[in-house]
Amino acid sequence: MRGMIHVYTGNGKGKTTAAFGLATRSAGHGKRVLFAQFLKGGRGESGEILAGRASTLKMKVIRFAEIHPRFDPTVDREELARKVQADFEEVRQEILKDDYDLVVLDEVDNCVSQDLLPIERLLALLEEKPERLELVLTGRGADPRVIERADYVTEMKKIKHPAETEGTPARKGIEF
Ligand code: ATP
Ligand code: MG
Repeated sequence: MRGMIHVYTGNGKGKTTAAFGLATRSAGHGKRVLFAQFLKGGRGESGEILAGRASTLKMKVIRFAEIHPRFDPTVDREELARKVQADFEEVRQEILKDDYDLVVLDEVDNCVSQDLLPIERLLALLEEKPERLELVLTGRGADPRVIERADYVTEMKKIKHPAETEGTPARKGIEF
């Protein structure tokens, strides 16, 4: 059966956790899952990494430690783009081995919208991926060409967020 392409985008909370929920559901059925996270530097270990390590499911979690420009506006963007593109290439090679049933590229849409990864690189991967691979992309500001190509597209829309209404800092186990 043809593997489909999913997109979780928008400015509301729930993109990464929805993708992780889907990944866990698939792995629960014995599917081989790769959950790759981009731009997750400077935040301590994510619950996703810890859950992956503790799990006996066939779920591999990779977390690239480059820092999102939103959290470090002074970062050298050319250097960052080179690193992000190397991270992307590493995951691409994993995908092309055809060892997985479902792959999540968490925050990859941010890599594109932040001009760290050329959209052509992502679109090319959508075409060359193994036919039966289910592929999930997350991140704010998904490109219209990615949305056009995807089968499922969900926008998380922020109505309220305590970081804005109360200045609540990111909480362990909730935000990361
Ligand atoms: P989650 O990982 O909880 O599913 P997400 O993937 O949809 O959320 P991102 O846009 O990747 O959210 O943001 C990462 C984290 O930053 C989220 O946990 C989110 O709650 C938090 N966040 C979202 N909006 C803001 C904001 N305006 N200020 C600070 N933190 C925010
Ligand atoms: Mg996220």
